[in-house]
Amino acid sequence: MSAKILDGKAIALELRESIRIEVDQQVAKGNKAPGLAVILVGEDPASQVYVRNKKIACEKAGFNDVSMVLPAETTQAELLAKIDELNADDSVHGIIVQLPVPAHIEPEELIERIDPAKDVDGFHPYNMGRLATRLPKMAPCTPHGVMTMLAKTGIQLRGLNAVVVGASNIVGVPMALELLNARATVTVCHSATVDLAQKVSEADLVVVGVGIPMMVKGDWIKEGAIVIDVGINRTEEGRLVGDVEFDVAKEKASWITPVPGGVGPMTIATLLQNTLKAAYSLK
Ligand code: NDP
Repeated sequence: MSAKILDGKAIALELRESIRIEVDQQVAKGNKAPGLAVILVGEDPASQVYVRNKKIACEKAGFNDVSMVLPAETTQAELLAKIDELNADDSVHGIIVQLPVPAHIEPEELIERIDPAKDVDGFHPYNMGRLATRLPKMAPCTPHGVMTMLAKTGIQLRGLNAVVVGASNIVGVPMALELLNARATVTVCHSATVDLAQKVSEADLVVVGVGIPMMVKGDWIKEGAIVIDVGINRTEEGRLVGDVEFDVAKEKASWITPVPGGVGPMTIATLLQNTLKAAYSLK
């Protein structure tokens, strides 16, 4: 079998176009455009690229971009005060702190200071708790974007054996909760998992977010499984590769996401979707 490609780029474009239409309709009714504030502290080069991409996406969606770059020496207290200011600003509907932050900053305290209704990254313990109790409000963007992609396959997730490789707060854990809420039977693997190959080989659906190039081998994949690769790794030659051995895995999977052009574009589109929801109190 050669897998069908789950084209995140195309699905994200479709989602962004539908968001733009909704924004235009809301603005025509006299409502404010959604406002998104991305707080970047310091000059991490990868973060600067992400923030620039978010800015372009915001502009294309008709959002009001209120992103800010603060000096690396900004203090925790100054950042908390900035978040308080944005929480109180009714033209700002979404606030995110771009990670990583400089070593002297405690990101957890900043995230907890964001009004949960404006927490469009979905990282606030309130929003993680809502997801864990099957009452999601703002769901973390990458896993929620994966759910949007999975819906496009038309495959029922209920009852599937799903294996999530990686257990971080931003990818693996919320991904497992999303799949559990969709009634899949979920196994979460991490660096202490024994015999990962065997776990993956039993999966009808495997989602990998580890950060190790091609660590999930193609021959581990069960015939007909759905393979979602969240990993983004740059090779020494500067090429982007995922965490799955794509060329071999695609011969066994029924659906597979490419890297680049798979999960990556869905993350920003889902951030816009969360901000749209926050702006107009949509479900
Ligand atoms: P983290 O480093 O925070 O988490 C990595 C996870 O992988 C941890 O849970 C870790 O286990 C687990 N892990 C590490 N080694 C192994 C191993 N040998 N076997 C099984 N599990 C292992 O990374 P992130 O979750 O932030 O990111 C993961 C990948 O996803 C990266 O490539 C990142 O670039 C990408 N990413 C992509 C996004 C997108 O939009 N497409 C968005 C966010 C991330 P343990 O918990 O035991 O340490």
